[in-house]
Amino acid sequence: MAKSKKGYFGRFGGTFAPETLMPALREADEAFGRFRTEAHWQAEYRRLLESYCGRPTALYEAVNLSRRLTDGRARIFFKREDLNHTGAHKITNALGQALLARFMGKERLIAETGAGQHGVATATAAALLGMDCDIFMGTVDMERQKPNVFRMHLLGARVIPVDSGGKTLKDAVNEAMRDWTRTVANTHYAFGSALGPHPFPMIVREFQSVIGKECRAQIKKAAGRLPDEVIACVGGGSNAIGIFSAFVKDKGVKLTGVEAGGEGLRGTKHAVRLTMSPHTKPGILHGAYSYVLQDKAGQIADTHSVSAGLDYSGVGPEHAHLFESGRAGYTYATDKEAVAAFKILCETEGIIPALESSHAIAYIIKQAPKLVDGSVVVVNLSGRGDKDIDSVAKFMGNIF
Ligand SMILES: *Cc1c(COP(=O)(O)O)cnc(C)c1O
Repeated sequence: MAKSKKGYFGRFGGTFAPETLMPALREADEAFGRFRTEAHWQAEYRRLLESYCGRPTALYEAVNLSRRLTDGRARIFFKREDLNHTGAHKITNALGQALLARFMGKERLIAETGAGQHGVATATAAALLGMDCDIFMGTVDMERQKPNVFRMHLLGARVIPVDSGGKTLKDAVNEAMRDWTRTVANTHYAFGSALGPHPFPMIVREFQSVIGKECRAQIKKAAGRLPDEVIACVGGGSNAIGIFSAFVKDKGVKLTGVEAGGEGLRGTKHAVRLTMSPHTKPGILHGAYSYVLQDKAGQIADTHSVSAGLDYSGVGPEHAHLFESGRAGYTYATDKEAVAAFKILCETEGIIPALESSHAIAYIIKQAPKLVDGSVVVVNLSGRGDKDIDSVAKFMGNIF
């Protein structure tokens, strides 16, 4: 294990990686430092965000929902990341990393995927930029997420089945890292969230920070001031850090992350890493020091959530720091609360939200009676829910 001082958020983060991976991480770090100052590449990134992804995404005032929850006392806004190409914020990071790879002269992209959302976003970016693409996916996830496996094939990517360990996301990350140590000469590893060893939490935050920058300008125009609270769901933490980053310095803006409470904190069927659950403590997972769900023996615990995108044992190190420093607050919503919130948004606003985003909506539903008159809140609607209608139908015991 090698350790470097760079890339810490308070006591969290760092680079805990095998020696064989260090040259690749150093190269990505150094290249990203140059990439972000190259006007030509930055202009190309902005052009694609605008004309291909559909940015800036809208900031929408949910008047019906505000009326239903607060009699119109509070103003609830949604940052509409669901309107992005491929249906979520993930494309913003995938495109950025694909361009970074091209900037480094690499021809092949690899990525891990759990539910398949990041795999699809990466395969999309690879197709657009004419790159070779291999997506590592656990065989259990491949079976559960067949439509996304097919989507990746259609987009010209190969899906590499991972049959080790629990055959899910954690194992796919391990396998992708192993591949990268051998192939770094022509390959870039596009991490899917603000996770992993330095420089990834920084790179992913920087690409996703466009969400917060847009939102800050939009809410000032719409409400005439900064919001009282900004809310986002937290899986690995990329959509949350993307929107939080523009408001961290504004001490008057409360930042709230919502984790997956699954079936509740009594058992182990949840993915609550920061909201002091009995099973979480700091540890090292996938190259960084952060909060990690683990059993008594320190083994990485399995997680559960109705939403595949929040179903991960670790969390981005910057969130661990925001949590411990008290700058952001973290809470959770259960599967039941998230599905109820999903239905309410469908009915009141005609928007089918992703189940991940529904956790953030569940929080504002619970919080509504406590909102003071005239308060302004922004919820990051990280993605659309078309992908989730089967899960919701099953959860409600319906078959269609
Ligand atoms: C993947 C995903 C998430 C969780 O990932 P973060 O890195 O925590 O943002 C949230 N919402 C949607 C719609 C997703 O696809």
